Amino acid sequence: MKQICLMGGTFDPIHYGHLVVAEEVRQKFGIQKVIFIPAARPPHKMGQEISEPHHRVNMTRLATASNRYFEVSTIEIERQGLSYTIDTVQEIKSIYKIETVYFITGADAVLEILTWKEAEKLLNMCTFIAATRPGYNLNNLKETLKSLPGEIFKKTLPLEVPALSISSSDIRQRVREGRSIKYLLPEPVEQYIKENKIYL
Ligand code: ATP
Ligand code: MG
Repeated sequence: MKQICLMGGTFDPIHYGHLVVAEEVRQKFGIQKVIFIPAARPPHKMGQEISEPHHRVNMTRLATASNRYFEVSTIEIERQGLSYTIDTVQEIKSIYKIETVYFITGADAVLEILTWKEAEKLLNMCTFIAATRPGYNLNNLKETLKSLPGEIFKKTLPLEVPALSISSSDIRQRVREGRSIKYLLPEPVEQYIKENKIYL
């Protein structure tokens, strides 16, 4: 095992935007394992209502089952309480005994890293891959990263991925309004949402 990549998120629900990014990163960096880590209760989404962890884990498992390089980890959910990336990276490193850990974030989330717990230390522990997302310009992102203090520019690799204008919030809203979510996420996840009446 040489390289592992972590993909953290709320995954409420997981959609093709997440999956395309993960697959693109896996191939471009020759990564052997991409671990999807549904967050227990993201510190930045405290006020919002979030679906129960077991639903988000089940949906993430359904969505990743057909890719042999993809795995789902429940470490953040089992840890309980607030989930911090630094604790997760530390735990993964000790479980898999590897040095090189990549961490995927969308271009929207990467600028928030500096506000995360022990950001400086975290930047020394893994390399961030900032994937483009519609509405985020890579050149602007590079300029912004350069202007920030510390190591963030050196430890962040911007990556162009096929832009999919899909978000979990939009999917939740569509379900609430009775609009179609077909082709925005894998079919088994769509079925799961229907059967369990999530987001209604
Ligand atoms: P919400 O709308 O509820 O915020 P989301 O679609 O942003 O959900 P998250 O679970 O918050 O999904 O995202 C997890 C990670 O995936 C984040 O780093 C986010 O930037 C990234 N991401 C989500 N959707 C896309 C997309 N369409 N393209 C690229 N990256 C994405
Ligand atoms: Mg988001």
